[in-house]
Amino acid sequence: MNKNKLHILSSGSKGNAVIVESGGELLLIDQGLSLKCFTGRCAAAGLDPARIVGILITHEHVDHINGVPLTACKLHLPVYAAPAVAAYFRDFGRYEFETRELTPQKPAQIGRFTVEPFPVMHDARDPYGFTVTLPNGERLTLVTDTGIVTQRIFAQLAVSEYLIIEANHDPDMLYRNPRYPADLKQRIRGASGHLSNQQCLEALEKLPHDKLKKVIFAHLSEENNSPELVRHSAKECFGRSAFTGESFIAPQKGPLSIPLD
Ligand SMILES: [Zn+2]
Ligand SMILES: [Zn+2]
Repeated sequence: MNKNKLHILSSGSKGNAVIVESGGELLLIDQGLSLKCFTGRCAAAGLDPARIVGILITHEHVDHINGVPLTACKLHLPVYAAPAVAAYFRDFGRYEFETRELTPQKPAQIGRFTVEPFPVMHDARDPYGFTVTLPNGERLTLVTDTGIVTQRIFAQLAVSEYLIIEANHDPDMLYRNPRYPADLKQRIRGASGHLSNQQCLEALEKLPHDKLKKVIFAHLSEENNSPELVRHSAKECFGRSAFTGESFIAPQKGPLSIPLD
């Protein structure tokens, strides 16, 4: 059996952790959960953390790396990150673990997975999205925490069968939210903030859909968005496009397991 699967353990500002599974190996992308919560969600998804081959880091915001040092140290896992983020981890000091530098110029082979990082636009040090090529040649691209869809991001989306893409907020809900100060609203909708539902769907509508099989909407704001709104807008968007695959909403409290086939 050579099954490929995706497991969303957590997605959103309270923590992000995604696992790609292939042939018994697990590749972890970000680990923003406590180790206890992480191992609990792995167990709920039927995953043995001992089979993880490495941790990829998108960027150093706390919702993506909160659990990384302890998890990497306890499970003896190498952490793959941009040079600036690897340096940030080395300055941590408290837990010992190995860091390996990843650059967009050099795809990395991590177990059965080929990993290509690419730059995204976010207010962090060298933030990355990732395209993971599975042993069968199919590609999964993860893009969250970006303020805009650059040409490079679009190119990565366009060659992928599976997408995890940010649908962070509805601009009207963000605009009307009385609990968010003006500068925070500005940060979220800025070019180095987060993708709105509209920005996400505009990019999806322009994609060639002959390859695309599954889309997972991720990093939804609990304050300025709702799964119903994303589902509704996505249905309209896909109605205008040639997309015939499936779409999912990544939960803050996972796991959600999705076969990659
Ligand atoms: Zn985030
Ligand atoms: Zn972030």
